[in-house]
Amino acid sequence: MKAAVLRAPDDVVLQDVATPSAGPGELILKVKAATVCGTDIRILRGRKTKGVRFPSVLGHEFAGEVVEVGAGVSQFSCGDPVSVNPVIPCRKCAYCKTGRENVCQNRQAIGYEFDGAYAEYLKVPALALESGNAVRIPQGMPYEAAALAEPLACCINGLRNVGVELGDVVVILGAGPIGLMHAALARRAGARLVIMSEPNEMRRQAALDRGVDIACDPTKEDLAQVIRGVTDGLGADVVILAIGVPALANEALKLVRKGGRVNLFAGFSAGDMATFDVNLVHYNEIIVTGASALRRQDYETALKLLAGGLIDANSLVTHRFELADAVEALKEAESGRALKVAIRND
Ligand SMILES: [Zn+2]
Ligand SMILES: [Zn+2]
Repeated sequence: MKAAVLRAPDDVVLQDVATPSAGPGELILKVKAATVCGTDIRILRGRKTKGVRFPSVLGHEFAGEVVEVGAGVSQFSCGDPVSVNPVIPCRKCAYCKTGRENVCQNRQAIGYEFDGAYAEYLKVPALALESGNAVRIPQGMPYEAAALAEPLACCINGLRNVGVELGDVVVILGAGPIGLMHAALARRAGARLVIMSEPNEMRRQAALDRGVDIACDPTKEDLAQVIRGVTDGLGADVVILAIGVPALANEALKLVRKGGRVNLFAGFSAGDMATFDVNLVHYNEIIVTGASALRRQDYETALKLLAGGLIDANSLVTHRFELADAVEALKEAESGRALKVAIRND
């Protein structure tokens, strides 16, 4: 079969590899749609290394059709449309046992430790089936929408950590696909105002088209002043960093009200450091939170929101490529011209 193989940092090629077959407890999917994640680009450029192997196949946001069922698998049959939560918790460590399986000490993931979805076929490991990570999707749900359940679930995890409440003013820094997902979820969670900060004009417009209240150009406008103008001078309730720029962490602290909450959602490059005004956190009693991966329950919630049309996934996919052009697709995703890039294999 064809697969986009990552041979080393900066070196990804489409090549023939052995087609996987199902061992006991495993499934083989024909990948129907995979979407490109910002993390894939960071891996490709050598800026993220945890869990990364060479050679390997990337792609952890995907859905497909079951084409082979391993011995002992009774819950799926050939032809089933399936999407898979790629993050597999061990279910045994201290974190798994206390409800924080997203930070499992023995966490493994498809697209990292297991080969991912930029390929014609994908093997769903037995471990993923045992932990219920594979989910049958409703007939007729677009595979592309199901692929987006993973990033949406990560956003749901971040949203829970930062605690968006009814009536909140939520500010999101960065209007990429993740920022737009946060905006849509914040709205569903009851935010009174959703404000986006984004220097790229195309992305600001995309945010406004998708229902964001205010889209601010931080290079030309004073974002803090805009926020104070709509919050009686107090500041935002919540700021979510949806772009991995360390210096923005301090900016985020200046945008929230006393007792406000900040979520450092986007990943940073290994070793990144930032300086921040410690007194902002101290005197303003600001709560700073992080976000890592997703829990199985987040994945199921995300799928239900997408299947029910409560989050419009289709509008996030702006560029589509065939698997044969997977390398091109990664380049397009890196260019910043696209929102979400999908790789299809019909
Ligand atoms: Zn992702
Ligand atoms: Zn664990």
